[in-house]
Amino acid sequence: MTFSKLIGQDPLRRTLNRLLKYDRLSHAVLIAGPPGSGKQAWGQALAMTILCTDSASGEACIKCPSCRQFASNNHPEYFVLEPDGAKLKIDQIRSIRNRFHLAGGKKVCLIKQAEVMTAEASSSLLKILEEPPEGLYFILLSEQPRQLFETILSRCQRYYLHPLKQEDIKDLLISNQAMNREKASILARLSRGIPGRAYELAEDETFDRRREEAESLAISLMSGDESAYHLLEKALSLAEREDLSSFLELLCYAFRDGLVMNYCRDDRLLIDPGRPSLHERGLEMPSLEAAICLINHTSYELAATNVNRRLLLEKMLIMMQRRFN
Ligand SMILES: [Zn+2]
Repeated sequence: MTFSKLIGQDPLRRTLNRLLKYDRLSHAVLIAGPPGSGKQAWGQALAMTILCTDSASGEACIKCPSCRQFASNNHPEYFVLEPDGAKLKIDQIRSIRNRFHLAGGKKVCLIKQAEVMTAEASSSLLKILEEPPEGLYFILLSEQPRQLFETILSRCQRYYLHPLKQEDIKDLLISNQAMNREKASILARLSRGIPGRAYELAEDETFDRRREEAESLAISLMSGDESAYHLLEKALSLAEREDLSSFLELLCYAFRDGLVMNYCRDDRLLIDPGRPSLHERGLEMPSLEAAICLINHTSYELAATNVNRRLLLEKMLIMMQRRFN
């Protein structure tokens, strides 16, 4: 995969092309971004280009012996380090020296989840970065770059992957997943610009059912006339869901679409424009805003605290019902 085949991140592509073309790339590069944002694809494209023997344009040629070896996952001068268990350990960093002790030619070591290096491993890497062997490049990938030693960060050229445009993610889903435009459009909106998240949703066979259940719950809550018995039963069944966090997100989007339509009447801004309009029910903005706040608060409490899920969900549903009653 070359830079030109990767979607989005145009400023990063231009910068790397320029640095490689004029041989200004640092021997240590950090690529940071949330899970699923494409760090590995960018790291691999960078490694392939560094090792390419005909990359005068700043792009890998994909034809030279090095590019062909790289594409077949069989490049002797490319080495990937990933955590051994939960950590990257000092012996793994030391193994780089042993592996790349021979002089001459370019060599690339890609380190995944660099933030989980132990303090000893970080010190060992720092020693290598302070006096880097000729031709050896490090590409560090990280979701949490702030957890890296400042002394390591300061020796890296640092790049951050930004969320992709919805249209780009939609096109990816249509071309790579053979998905229809309507579903690709919904998943692109739910992906928050992260391609890995869009692929995860695309492969989730329970997604369509979950989306319908969330919409059905939103409709019944908006009716404002659910009995207390049914509300408590619903809270129990929600508490037992393994996909509760994703379900609450979809529930939140159902109310969010209602809010958007009340506010600006522009269905291009809806997460799910093809759905029967929850928003034509004439609900008031404060009730919709309150429902969204309640769901966000509940999601936060569920993720950050060790609360009783059932009690928390009962409270959320009862308070929402009161707002719509
Ligand atoms: Zn090449």
